[in-house]
Amino acid sequence: MNLLIHGPGMIATHLPASHPLKPTRANDAHDLIANPRNGWVELVQVVAPPTATDRDVARVHDLSYIAMVDRLSVPGATGRVPSGEARRFGFSAQGDNPPYAEMGLIARNVSGGVIHAIEQVASGNADLAFVPSAGVNHHAMPGSASGFGIFNDAAVGIAWARERGMRVMYVDLDVHQGDGVEAMFASDPQVLTISIHESTRFLFPGPPGGLANAIGTGPGTGFAVNVPLAPYSDDNTWLWAFEEIVPPLHGAFRPDLTVVQCGADAYHADPLAHLLLSENAYVRAAERLRSLTGGRLVAIGGGGYDVEATPRIWASMFATFAGLQVNDNWLHGPNPTPSLDAGASSRVMDDARGAIDTLKQLVFPIHGL
Ligand SMILES: [Zn+2]
Repeated sequence: MNLLIHGPGMIATHLPASHPLKPTRANDAHDLIANPRNGWVELVQVVAPPTATDRDVARVHDLSYIAMVDRLSVPGATGRVPSGEARRFGFSAQGDNPPYAEMGLIARNVSGGVIHAIEQVASGNADLAFVPSAGVNHHAMPGSASGFGIFNDAAVGIAWARERGMRVMYVDLDVHQGDGVEAMFASDPQVLTISIHESTRFLFPGPPGGLANAIGTGPGTGFAVNVPLAPYSDDNTWLWAFEEIVPPLHGAFRPDLTVVQCGADAYHADPLAHLLLSENAYVRAAERLRSLTGGRLVAIGGGGYDVEATPRIWASMFATFAGLQVNDNWLHGPNPTPSLDAGASSRVMDDARGAIDTLKQLVFPIHGL
């Protein structure tokens, strides 16, 4: 069975209208996947998640931060200028993290969705579980909101799995580095995080994190992997870097569970970043992840600010993960993928080669590769 975990309480409908994160994305992905015309009625089950408890959230977040999120989540919060104390927890009226009504409840529901997804896949009740509204919180830190992230749902889910003894591989395809998830497990050798992203020299959250030599700390050294790519890297370079890193590390680490963050903002028309991926690159990566995991995986959404392309990419990835027939209409947006001239193409590839060489020197020996 393939689960789509989605419901009305998982959407930040009270975000200010000017915010780049559009709550329609996960609804639109749901509508594409659950459309009866796909013929998947027997193969896809849509479920609403349980709400994460405070104990679940507190596995990765500070109690003082959780309390602040709840204080800011009151009716009428949208548009209100937060206090100086709230600003120390990462909130501001005009920045990435404006407070909004029901913020804490929605963040708990989304985190509960990831826990439910992991529980269902780990128990064998589901092969695939996808939570489209999750993943965009991957920048949230233990004690602060960051980069649109409130409670770090991926980390809440992984921490739940860790408490049950599972080894977890987290693959973050978002164009931005998955810094929050990495930070929460940087010293844990039972959690292997891999983030493939536009270099933090050019994009949020900024260096020194996210560069190829940032590989975890203490006993977790070698278990945080960053693949920074130059701006304008295209399908060719991105898929090559993915293939050089993800399959060998998956084979060596042999996780009990794989969580894939499907951030669609590496897409060429995304307004917040500068990579040049087509829909096809995401489908190819999903095919590879299906072959590595046997289709037994947890997928979560992520960034994606082209509101038309993001749901199509997620629906295509869901179908590919599940071994279902991808609807061809989802693979071709209105704008053609720009192509690089030969010089630019070889420059971004050379840059990627440098990062992969560094990872093969620093990380692969730790995994016996
Ligand atoms: Zn992103």
